[in-house]
Amino acid sequence: MTFINLPPAPPHIEIVHVGGPTVLIEIDGYKIITDPTFDEAQSIYPGPVTLHKTEAPAVDRKDLGKIDLVLLTHDEHADNLDHSGRELLPLAQHVLTTQSGAKRLKNNAVGMSPWDERRFRTPNGRELKITATPAQHGPEGIEAVVGEVIGFVITDVNSQQDLFYITGDTVWYPGVKMVVDTFKPKYIFAFAGAAHPTEVPVRLTMDTNEVLSLSHASPNSKIIPVHQDNWQHFTQGKMLMDTAFAMFGLQKRLIDLAPGTRMILNTADNN
Ligand SMILES: [Zn+2]
Repeated sequence: MTFINLPPAPPHIEIVHVGGPTVLIEIDGYKIITDPTFDEAQSIYPGPVTLHKTEAPAVDRKDLGKIDLVLLTHDEHADNLDHSGRELLPLAQHVLTTQSGAKRLKNNAVGMSPWDERRFRTPNGRELKITATPAQHGPEGIEAVVGEVIGFVITDVNSQQDLFYITGDTVWYPGVKMVVDTFKPKYIFAFAGAAHPTEVPVRLTMDTNEVLSLSHASPNSKIIPVHQDNWQHFTQGKMLMDTAFAMFGLQKRLIDLAPGTRMILNTADNN
């Protein structure tokens, strides 16, 4: 198979925040979705830790069309994969997730360990490299309690740019630092919200302090906080994140991605 030999021009990228950790990323028309969640508001997910969804998705699942690639940071938590998100998985061309998650999900799910790579082609022949990244979903030792999580870096091989770092559910810890020391992502989807379900005695995702630390460690990246609204167990939301960055004069580092709004990202400059 031959592909058009693309010049190292930047790709055309559009993103839409569906809500929670769910973002549609279109790169030259290639549709990627992170942690699909499309259930209605007021959905309840009973279990040892009961989760409550407070907001409806800003985009209807049916309006997205065919998804080429799902980047699923973990399958075991309803705020990262809810019922309708789960239904979407077998309809997508490819699903990348944790090794244990792929065994549970079967079908088209492919397991990745941190630093594993997979390559895909956009319709116009651009090559995208997906690298799995380490994540720690709470204090050290948490994996035995809450299971495996990974993040992802999306690299445009043609223009040799690291486009996105999707942190997945993680705290700020040496594994995340290693990712931003290894890659130079233009945009970081920071899974924030300081998740803290009432039944759990520890915090499970980044708070404002930690997203600020992440932004300092990757000074050329724009930060797009996600996973901070729409669920009851998120203890910090967008307003606090915006205020925290403004306190240090860093509001220009943030991208305000209003749910449901399609945003075109400029990857041509080196901001
Ligand atoms: Zn989680």
